[in-house]
Amino acid sequence: MCGAEKFGGFTLHYSRTMSSCIVCKKTGNCRPVFDKGITGLSEVSKQRRDIIHEDISKQLADNFPIVVHEKCRKDYTCKSNIIKVLKEMDAEFH
Ligand SMILES: [Zn+2]
Repeated sequence: MCGAEKFGGFTLHYSRTMSSCIVCKKTGNCRPVFDKGITGLSEVSKQRRDIIHEDISKQLADNFPIVVHEKCRKDYTCKSNIIKVLKEMDAEFH
C-alpha cells in the first residue's frame, strides 16, 4: 500500500503531497494517518465545516497517503477546539 514506484510519473506530485500535513499543509515531521484516523479527521472536518475532508477524499482518490503533524491532529480533533470554532461560526452567522 505504499511506495513511490507505483505512482510512476507522478512521483514529484506524490512526494510533495506525501509530506504535506493535511491540516496545516506544511511539510516535515508528518506522520501517516490510517483508516480510523482518516475517518476521524473527515468527521471533524465536516463538523468544522471546512474543506479538509474534501482534501482527504481527493488524496485518497489519487492514492496519496494522508499525513499529519501529531500536534495538528491533536489540536484539530480536540473537542473543545471544535466547539470553539462552531461557536465562532454561529456568532458570525447571527
Ligand atoms: Zn501540520
